[in-house]
Amino acid sequence: MERLRSDGPLSVEAYMDACNAYYYATRDPLGAAGDFTTAPEISQMFGELVGAALTDVWRRAGAPANVRYVELGPGRGTLARDALRVMRSAGLTPPVHLVEISPTLRAAQAALLGEVTHHDHIGDLPCDGPLLVVANEFLDALPIRQHVGGVERHVEWIGDGLAFDRDGEIVESSPSRDEAVRALAEGLVPLGGVALVIDYGHERSAPGDTLQAVRGHRFAPVLADPGENDLTSHVDFQRVGELAREAGAFVAGPAEQGAWLERLGIQARARALANASPDRAGEIEAARARLCRPDQMGSLFKVLAIHAPDWPRPAGL
Ligand code: SAH
Repeated sequence: MERLRSDGPLSVEAYMDACNAYYYATRDPLGAAGDFTTAPEISQMFGELVGAALTDVWRRAGAPANVRYVELGPGRGTLARDALRVMRSAGLTPPVHLVEISPTLRAAQAALLGEVTHHDHIGDLPCDGPLLVVANEFLDALPIRQHVGGVERHVEWIGDGLAFDRDGEIVESSPSRDEAVRALAEGLVPLGGVALVIDYGHERSAPGDTLQAVRGHRFAPVLADPGENDLTSHVDFQRVGELAREAGAFVAGPAEQGAWLERLGIQARARALANASPDRAGEIEAARARLCRPDQMGSLFKVLAIHAPDWPRPAGL
């Protein structure tokens, strides 16, 4: 607010960047008491199937010994905990490297996972062995630019609040997202390995305003209470795939999350969990439905794999 009042309008990108830097640095936004819930927080089945898919592709790549588990924006560390448990049970015990900006969430991840190495940027990851990378709801949090008729859209202070300086048909782009995808693909090509990128978004590039604010599990106005809402936007998976291919990586998908989880065996896993705890059968089935049903997370969320040319295509895609 100070910057807007003293320096004048901020681009949507600078506004989103400033809001989210403050937002993520000052809280744990996840779970019932927070602002939003993610797939790994809904059910252990999500992280377990990610772990199974990574173990499978690692084995088919010849089970290299010097592999690392990497997560981008790991939240509370729940997905990593569930994935690593499955990987360990199959004899895969990789060192854990996490890319995370939030000090609050870094502390939560270390408390849950034990020995982990934190990094600020993808470019800081170790570069002497293959990487098994997961990014769930990471790209959506990186800032986007918006243009209307070729002119960049800004947020301005209008005396009693904030407003956009222009409206119309909006075209979005995201230099930070592009840079993250390029860095990831450029790392995987020489090192080997795969990245599973999971997020809400669209398969084909298209114009449209997808910037959204969420607080307390409800949508909020994007310009209300800067830094107190989770600001995200939909991921353009066509763009992600194109950038990864340009960097020399191979791409599989995108697939819809529901179909992908079904192909990885979520039904069988749900049945096994329900047989082991019959009193929780209803809850387990509800979680499966929430992750997979097209009217819930099953269709909006997409999964895309980026992999080194000499690595196999991960299952389910
Ligand atoms: N993957 C987790 C959390 C998703 S929320 C889950 O599925 O539950 C977004 C995550 O990305 C948080 O951990 C947040 O702190 C992190 N994050 C946001 N912007 C980031 C950035 N620029 N660099 C690194 N991490 C970031």
